[in-house]
Amino acid sequence: MRSSFKTALENLSTGGTVTGKDLITILKSTDETEIDALFVTADKVRRLYVGDEVHFRGIIEFSNHCSRNCLYCGLRRYNDKLRRYRMSPEEIIDACDKAAAAGFKTIVLQSGEDTYYSTDVLAGLISTIKQKYDVAVTLSLGERSFEFYRFMRDAGADRYLIKHETADPELFARLRPGTNIQRRLDCLKQLKELGYEVGSGNMVGLPGQEAKTLAEDLLLMQELDVDMAGVGPFIPSEYTPLSRYPRGDLYLTLKVIALTRLILPRTNIPATTALGTIHPRGREMALRCGANVIMPNITPPEFRRHYQIYPGKESLISGSGKLENLQTLVLSMGRKISHNKGSAPKNRFK
Ligand code: SAH
Ligand code: SF4
Repeated sequence: MRSSFKTALENLSTGGTVTGKDLITILKSTDETEIDALFVTADKVRRLYVGDEVHFRGIIEFSNHCSRNCLYCGLRRYNDKLRRYRMSPEEIIDACDKAAAAGFKTIVLQSGEDTYYSTDVLAGLISTIKQKYDVAVTLSLGERSFEFYRFMRDAGADRYLIKHETADPELFARLRPGTNIQRRLDCLKQLKELGYEVGSGNMVGLPGQEAKTLAEDLLLMQELDVDMAGVGPFIPSEYTPLSRYPRGDLYLTLKVIALTRLILPRTNIPATTALGTIHPRGREMALRCGANVIMPNITPPEFRRHYQIYPGKESLISGSGKLENLQTLVLSMGRKISHNKGSAPKNRFK
């Protein structure tokens, strides 16, 4: 192991000041011994700070309509090959009934940026869910106004997921026409101000991204002190301008997850669906190098197959994304299934 790598790893895993230089040294390593040491250290830090429990969050993708045109995403407005759907409030509540019965303590409502549902309808849904079940409600509805966020928070929403996607302002602007990184960061700050637990995160392997960009992603998440950090590989999606670019690398994604655990020891980190999609053991590998959350897809199958952000979401092709299989996986790894809502404790080293 190179001494520069050893020093960087020691520094990051003991609460030292995080520098771009240390992060890049680790991100660029191709040495198996070094990468193993990173993963083992991240796993230790995970056990020490958030324990062996794995939190399950059930995700309901209730609408695949989107007014945006992100270059990487299959739900983009210009994709006219996609069959669009919207679940009715009754269908959403029905899916929540099933989620609560299956024991989920967090329900995530996700969609494209779809203004079809009025704020009253959405707020009504949230308060119904909060009254009926003892669950945390997470929203992932994209960039909305401060008033919208406040309304949903008042209705009972607990958390909001809005990944910063990439910390590179130029790349962000190129990939997400009509918006910019500052607007995204403003959303994250407003959500925090309103008392939401916030989740951010990024994609690994976006065309034009470098190790330096990933280091900036990590530094940004640390600065934002996010409660959850979702890191997944970019997966090229048919009928998008990026359909011919290569997908993000498995090991590079795992390295970013491991580094996230080191610099944000108490943050909730999901083993993302995207990782499970590019490798049959992707989620397991993530759970072994820092992750402590799994987000099974509980969208009714007739809708789920049209929520094609990227192709081949693993739950569709194999059984690996199914709740029972994921629970078996967690137990077989000697980990525990959490029965609480799994709020992120405050970060910082003791
Ligand atoms: N519309 C909302 C939520 C739905 S998109 C939003 O954009 O925030 C949810 C996540 O899917 C995004 O945050 C993005 O990181 C991820 N995603 C989109 N296209 C992807 C692709 N081609 N590969 C991997 N992840 C992708
Ligand atoms: Fe819409 Fe979100 Fe996809 Fe962008 S990433 S096109 S905002 S669903």
